[in-house]
Amino acid sequence: MKKENNVSRRNALKGIGATVATLVASPSLTAMGSSYSANTSNPGLKNPLDKYPKPPYPKQQQPHPGLASQMDPIPDHGEKSYKGNGRLQGRKALITGGDSGIGRAAAIAYAREGADVAINYLPAEEEDAKQVVALIKEAGRKAVALPGDITDAAFCKTLVENAVSQLGGLDILVNNAGYQKSNLSIMDISDDSFDATMKTNIYALFWITRAALPHLPPGASIIATTSVQAYDPSENLFDYSQTKAANVAYVKSLSKQLGPKGIRVNGVSPGPIWTPLQVCGGQEQESLPEFGADTPLARAGQPAELASIFVQLADNSASYSTGQIYGAAGGGGQP
Ligand code: NAD
Ligand code: MG
Repeated sequence: MKKENNVSRRNALKGIGATVATLVASPSLTAMGSSYSANTSNPGLKNPLDKYPKPPYPKQQQPHPGLASQMDPIPDHGEKSYKGNGRLQGRKALITGGDSGIGRAAAIAYAREGADVAINYLPAEEEDAKQVVALIKEAGRKAVALPGDITDAAFCKTLVENAVSQLGGLDILVNNAGYQKSNLSIMDISDDSFDATMKTNIYALFWITRAALPHLPPGASIIATTSVQAYDPSENLFDYSQTKAANVAYVKSLSKQLGPKGIRVNGVSPGPIWTPLQVCGGQEQESLPEFGADTPLARAGQPAELASIFVQLADNSASYSTGQIYGAAGGGGQP
């Protein structure tokens, strides 16, 4: 019965397609399982399917925390493409994990939008961080490099103090650093690994936010990077997915607390994004070539594709958005 309905609906839609094709000369339309294609001569229009490398990706492994510069293909963080429009003029941002991946894309975009930017990263990532510092300076903005381990409570406090003193204030806080280790069974998760995941992805946000709050003026914006894993956790990311659900709760609770102070708190929920996190233990080696293949866009996303979301959430123009989670997952996942 259900099948018949589908068939007759398909035929009806085919009929509509034929009519549209007759009325509008160039596009050809056939619906339900067939293809829709329209010719366009607008060079400003980019097909998201063809914009970036597609699976299969080469197998590769780096020791944690990994370097973007050693990845194949090298991720796009918007180095050549991001164009600013003065949306964050004079703003002061601290971004954790700002050396690579999603944090680097945000750092480049923020600087090109007119913000001074401090980045935190692990000392082993100095090579990636240096490139980001150079890009921020090229944009004509102040760059502050603050390496250190955010699983250390005392460091988190110092990190914020140094960011505030060197930037001359703080009005954007991006809690983006994260640790992800794939384990096929709960039995394989060591106490140390579990602890590193919780400390990096939950405790650090608490420590950093608590230290930053006294410095954040009304109009300031806090952004946390959560994940589709918060909503539909994979079996191999048992501990990581719990931390990403915690990040959603962080946004939902803190936004209520800080709304009356005029401080907005939002989250970004990426799907599969091509970053070092995934090639230094975040994914099983066997899964890496097909990373992102199961999304409707049939590929992994690139960090550059999330930059405009981080800009939007920090921008004054998004003044009524707080407690929200913005997704970028190639059509898969939640929210
Ligand atoms: P990435 O490896 O480029 O960035 C993660 C960063 O976290 C590292 O660069 C590192 O500087 C930082 N970090 C990790 N442990 C740290 C520690 N102890 N002290 C200080 N810094 C530390 O990878 P990414 O994918 O851009 O990750 C950024 C965020 O995006 C993470 O929160 C991650 O959970 C989230 N995310 C990523 C994906 C994805 O598919 N890549 C999907 C959903 C969510
Ligand atoms: Mg890195």
